[in-house]
Amino acid sequence: MSETGVLESQPALVGGIDLGGTKIEAIVTDEGHHVLGSARHPTPTEGGPADVANAMAAALTEAAKGASVEPAQLRGVGVGSPGVVDSRAGTVSQADNLPGWIASFPLAAALQSALGTRIALGNDVSVATAAEFELGAGRPYRSLLGVFWGTGVGGGLVLDGTPWHGRGGAGEIGHTVIRVGGRRCPCGRRGCLEAYAGRAAMEARARRLRDRGVKTILFELAAEHGRDRLTSGIWERALEHGDRVATRLIDRAVDALGVGIASAVNLLDVEAVVIGGGLGVRFGEPYRARIVAAMLPHLFNDSRPPAVLLAALGDLGGAYGATLLVG
Ligand SMILES: [Zn+2]
Repeated sequence: MSETGVLESQPALVGGIDLGGTKIEAIVTDEGHHVLGSARHPTPTEGGPADVANAMAAALTEAAKGASVEPAQLRGVGVGSPGVVDSRAGTVSQADNLPGWIASFPLAAALQSALGTRIALGNDVSVATAAEFELGAGRPYRSLLGVFWGTGVGGGLVLDGTPWHGRGGAGEIGHTVIRVGGRRCPCGRRGCLEAYAGRAAMEARARRLRDRGVKTILFELAAEHGRDRLTSGIWERALEHGDRVATRLIDRAVDALGVGIASAVNLLDVEAVVIGGGLGVRFGEPYRARIVAAMLPHLFNDSRPPAVLLAALGDLGGAYGATLLVG
């Protein structure tokens, strides 16, 4: 109770953290989903889960400072995490793109003790899909497939207004088989969409071609820009330079995405497909249109294709989605 005898209202601000393989994006939003503070920190490449948790807490603390609040004053902080997320137990395991993070780590407890507020964990792709459904490009629709084209190819589903997780493993459009006996996927299987369209798989392929003597400026560009990975920006620059390896790999990625998305649409008949992720956001409209063109020939119900849209929340979709986890 305050001096005036009025019950103190529930704190209205919430935090969201999007934990990615290269960066940690943190925001603080009000009830109208306006961003009052934000911070972006690099994801630690060494150490272990505790170091990543510390970096996440630091990013959220900076975002809270931008919103002129202490983290402990937030109603809660949502987290979108890669790997296998157990939101009930508050743990994350098998986050392959993060340093030393194979065994289960109590991420919610670590963040709760660092930030002094309650923590809600979710899967990064699911929360990004929920954000596009509730706040972004998917708002006019009741059913949605989110396709996140980046290091891997992630997918999220909303069916008849409700997120669909299956038994916990739904949405893996990246491992839709588009070619029986095809290229080896980072998951170890063959012929998955991600084996052709995931940035990590494309980089591995480009490396093999270069090692075989095929000319490409991809790795020179990366070195010039101080990158040890082929980021979305490096791929974009190589395309602008007319690099043949980059052009060929991206053309195949677009075809693979068209086939994979068409197969998912044939099965689920969603109203809309939202394309996000590092490459999706970076390449934007011309590639959205190319993916549609690659999809259409494979649609069974080709007189009524779904709307195919770019993610409206861009890079912040994951962080926005994380805030939505705080009930
Ligand atoms: Zn796979």
